Amino acid sequence: MVVIAVPPGPGLRHRRTSAIVNARSPMSTVSTVRGLVEVDELGQALMHEHIVNINAEISRDQPELSWGGDRQLALEAIASKLRDVKAAGIDTIVDATAIGHGRDIAALREINAMVDLNIIVSTGIYTYDDLPFYFQYRAPADASARDVMTEIFVRDIRDGIAGTDVRAAIIKVATDLKGVTPNIERILRAAARAHRETGAPITTHTQVSERNGLDQQRIFKEEGVDLTRVIIGHSGDSTDLDYLRELMDAGSMIGADRFGLYMAPHFPSFEERIETLVRLIEAGYGDRIVLSHDYTAHSDWFLENPLPVASEWSFTHVSSAVIPALRERGVTEEQIDALLVHNPRRVFAAQGAY
Ligand SMILES: [Zn+2]
Repeated sequence: MVVIAVPPGPGLRHRRTSAIVNARSPMSTVSTVRGLVEVDELGQALMHEHIVNINAEISRDQPELSWGGDRQLALEAIASKLRDVKAAGIDTIVDATAIGHGRDIAALREINAMVDLNIIVSTGIYTYDDLPFYFQYRAPADASARDVMTEIFVRDIRDGIAGTDVRAAIIKVATDLKGVTPNIERILRAAARAHRETGAPITTHTQVSERNGLDQQRIFKEEGVDLTRVIIGHSGDSTDLDYLRELMDAGSMIGADRFGLYMAPHFPSFEERIETLVRLIEAGYGDRIVLSHDYTAHSDWFLENPLPVASEWSFTHVSSAVIPALRERGVTEEQIDALLVHNPRRVFAAQGAY
């Protein structure tokens, strides 16, 4: 796909992302694969992407059946895609890949060594209901007991992952067609508690047909979570303005985070997604929306990589098509900066346990 450079705008003031800093005030920095980065230096950010989904046991035990058979080749192809992202003016990607989804910190480090980009890593558990036996048999005895899930999320955020100093900076959870099953409720509560213990924000997967972003908010609220610290993800799959306003009126940001996925009848078209976004911005909600593609650069879920689901689906579609379309509809540079720079920055600037 053709990458169109983003014209200079106020957002580009923040492009000095090589400024990886040593530990200064924890109030002003966020953990990335390459270390701490000042929140003000995050620049334009895509808030929900996937760099690799790799099953750890298969890649460990049958490597020739993983990574398309050639890990190094796959890593280089991914790095090349991420260089296109940087060339499009994006400085930061939030990798929303949690436990159960195929998070691979070693791979992310190798990839990030090949490209100058901030990659923010997630903790959390990705499932629509089923849990590995490891978690099943460790269900907390009662509501006051500390869940091993919380323990893992907090360790990922405070200590690092997989014996590295790469620390998660956001907590990812999912609710899909099955809704808030007992397992999903357990994960949501564990995420809420890890959030309150660490201050790391929460980002979610939802199924908009079930409007279950509202269910997530209800449980987070019961756990005392400040809903402004939560991004209700995949909300851009909905064109129901009442639902979207309700999520944002409760304080949360929403993710218009699946640009490029336009397959009818499950997903709105490009035009419908843009129309929804423009109407929400016009209604004053532009300070509560973040953008992304939910793209997956390499996944071992499928035989083909990249997944050939939609020709527009890539890490650069927001930069090359969505932003120009918003400009055409009269959205200002200031409003675009809110979506790409200021809202993401606010997500990570709010810190501290409570
Ligand atoms: Zn995702």
